[in-house]
Amino acid sequence: MDVKNSYNFSDSDNYEEDAEILEEKFILPTKRNLWETDNRCQSCLINFNILGIAHTKKTMCSFCYRGVCLKCLCFSRKHPESEISTKMCRACHYECKSIRHISGKLQQAKLEIEQLHFEVDLAIREKDDYTNQRKCVEQQINKVQNLLKLSHGEKIAECDKIKLIIEENEAKKTRIISANSELVEEKNKLLVYNKELLKFISDLKLGIKQNEESESKYRSRINKTQNKILGILKSHNAIENTTLVTEKIKNLTEETKDLQLKLENTNKLTQELEKELHSHQKNTETNELTVYNLHTKASETKALYLESDIFTEEQEKELVKKRSMLLEYDKIIKNLNDRLELLKKEAARQHKLNKGTTKGTLYGNNSLLAEYETARRSNTVTLHGSTSCKQCIIA
Ligand SMILES: [Zn+2]
Ligand SMILES: [Zn+2]
Repeated sequence: MDVKNSYNFSDSDNYEEDAEILEEKFILPTKRNLWETDNRCQSCLINFNILGIAHTKKTMCSFCYRGVCLKCLCFSRKHPESEISTKMCRACHYECKSIRHISGKLQQAKLEIEQLHFEVDLAIREKDDYTNQRKCVEQQINKVQNLLKLSHGEKIAECDKIKLIIEENEAKKTRIISANSELVEEKNKLLVYNKELLKFISDLKLGIKQNEESESKYRSRINKTQNKILGILKSHNAIENTTLVTEKIKNLTEETKDLQLKLENTNKLTQELEKELHSHQKNTETNELTVYNLHTKASETKALYLESDIFTEEQEKELVKKRSMLLEYDKIIKNLNDRLELLKKEAARQHKLNKGTTKGTLYGNNSLLAEYETARRSNTVTLHGSTSCKQCIIA
């Protein structure tokens, strides 16, 4: 027992466990008579049966069936065949130990492998989880990217809309400016034409005045002539004066003819003036139409202005000023029309008067001639001693 204790191992506490492993792993040799020829210990190689050394006595190990000394046969194990605790040599013990060690290592390796398998399974599960999570995240990223793309497109569309509105506003501005310049140009033209019209009207008035003056002159001259004729008829009753009177009457008649011609010319002039007045009236109507068009344009411009916000205050003031100028211009045109109407009426009246005067003059001349004829006949009858001559009776 002392020998055994001196060779005890630290892991001998796990003997039963080791025995089970040994049973499983330790294989007994097929040749079991080799110990008979062994002449020295197969464990420590000492010769057997040395004199004076007791433990060199030859024994047999029941596990390897070889010859060993007593000192080396110091361990015991459960025998795999007899299943009884049996003596074992040092070599077999070391073999068992190494087998046990390897078995332990194997067991540990198995455990480690199982652990690794478990960890691999876990890792695979984690990987699957992460893959699923990654898929979810990818889907979310795709959604966000799509949303971003969509919002970006909408922004671009909005930008395009704003650009279009700006372009339209620019076009409106250009149109308003051009319309304004056109209005100003037409206004200037109309102002110039208005001046011309005023000048022409004053000329017409002057012409009408001159006509009136010449007409009054002619009338006074006709009256004078009539008076002269009457005076001649009254003062010269003698037949000697008849020839002179006839000559005078002839001269007067010629003068009257001249006056009639002049009157006709005056009438013609008046008619021409009327024609011109008519044409000017037409021009005025055209101007009224132009003014109406200008009004329409102004209202359109105003509408455009209301639509657009790009007008400055100065431009707005300018527009208001132009509109007030247009209104003033309308007033001027109206006054012109009224004056033209008056002129036309005046011209018509003058024309009638002229015609009447012409007729009167002609009638007057005829009556003068008739009176003269009567007077001549009376004088002739008186000379022949007739009592029917009124002139003679009065005389
Ligand atoms: Zn030995
Ligand atoms: Zn042995």
